[in-house]
Amino acid sequence: MYRNFKIVPNIVFGRGSFNQLGDILKAQRCDQDSFMVFVLDDVFKGKSLEGRVPLETGDMLLAVNVDDEPKTSYIDQLVTEVKAFHGRIPAGVIGIGGGATMDIAKAISLMLTNPGSSADYQGWDLIKNPAVYHAAVPTLAGTGAEVSRTTVLTGPEKKLGINSDYTVYDQVLLDPELLAGVPKNQWFYTGMDCYIHDVESLNGTYLNEFSRAYGEKSIELCREVFLDDHPDKDDKLMMASYFGGMSIAYSQVGACHALSYGLSFVLGTHHGIGCCITFDYLEEVYPQGVREFREMMARHDIPLPRNLTAGLDEKALDIMANVALGLTPLWENCFGKDWKSIMTKERVVELYRRM
Ligand code: NAD
Ligand code: ZN
Repeated sequence: MYRNFKIVPNIVFGRGSFNQLGDILKAQRCDQDSFMVFVLDDVFKGKSLEGRVPLETGDMLLAVNVDDEPKTSYIDQLVTEVKAFHGRIPAGVIGIGGGATMDIAKAISLMLTNPGSSADYQGWDLIKNPAVYHAAVPTLAGTGAEVSRTTVLTGPEKKLGINSDYTVYDQVLLDPELLAGVPKNQWFYTGMDCYIHDVESLNGTYLNEFSRAYGEKSIELCREVFLDDHPDKDDKLMMASYFGGMSIAYSQVGACHALSYGLSFVLGTHHGIGCCITFDYLEEVYPQGVREFREMMARHDIPLPRNLTAGLDEKALDIMANVALGLTPLWENCFGKDWKSIMTKERVVELYRRM
């Protein structure tokens, strides 16, 4: 069966397009009681972007903190705050920030119309009711969260996304100017998330012409950004992220992402940096990709933490390996149906020990 793939229906791209956000949202403000919730990464508190948010009377500016990756308990708390604000459901939820903030806004929009805790919906197609209108404005590029059908959450039992067609954004606004001011290491780690999406998609057994078309363009853009230092690199990285997300949506990620989930689960390592750490140990699996990644890292003088697992006992390493090996589709994409004979638990633990 081929997937019937839901995509973002409305997209604006261009420098300064953030100024159009207010106009775009007007169509959603259907009566005088309707209000918007702007979910803003709190890194922008007191910065000029905060002052540019097109707030109208009655709107809510919800500053969110992403020092930790989003947890289901945090989503539940934010949903309670939004519901209490006017005692009714908003007309729209707009996420302005990196992957974490975009995921938080997606999750809020879903949980305003679906009862219970966000943890109840971690999985595939468990959401019953359509979300409130939701729009994304990325301020960091690479995760592809702006186009994906998931919002990655850490719950009491698992780190797993709320995957559903309702999760997909109704509107995305891509303004490359918003990338100015991202700290260099963060820019690199999140950008490499995209590069790695492309390598894993293009080298996977699930590859098809749909994914190849997006993946090849995305990796070409990444090279212009991270190797050629192109003057339009912010524009290029925004599009690379979008295309990388489109590529994996119709294929899958691979070994690097599987291993990074294990690291993240046990050590709380963030997604972008976690992928960089694990990718650096996968030269045997993605020889060309890892060599090019190292070239990019050297060019931008990016440090990678080492000896992360040195203090871990056997039990912690075992949990890490189980989390990674539990991600069957990622391994199957990487090595094919026979992946279990190639990526054994011993090999995974051995890889983790070296990190
Ligand atoms: P992030 O959103 O966690 O942000 C990283 C840091 O950069 C934060 O401190 C943030 O405040 C700061 N920041 C963001 N924009 C900035 C700007 N313009 N200027 C200065 N600082 C800025 O980072 P990310 O790598 O974009 O996202 C990672 C998150 O995305 C993880 O939670 C991960 O699980 C999730 N993710 C989701 C998907 C998906 O498909 N839904 C895919 C990949 C990753
Ligand atoms: Zn990723």
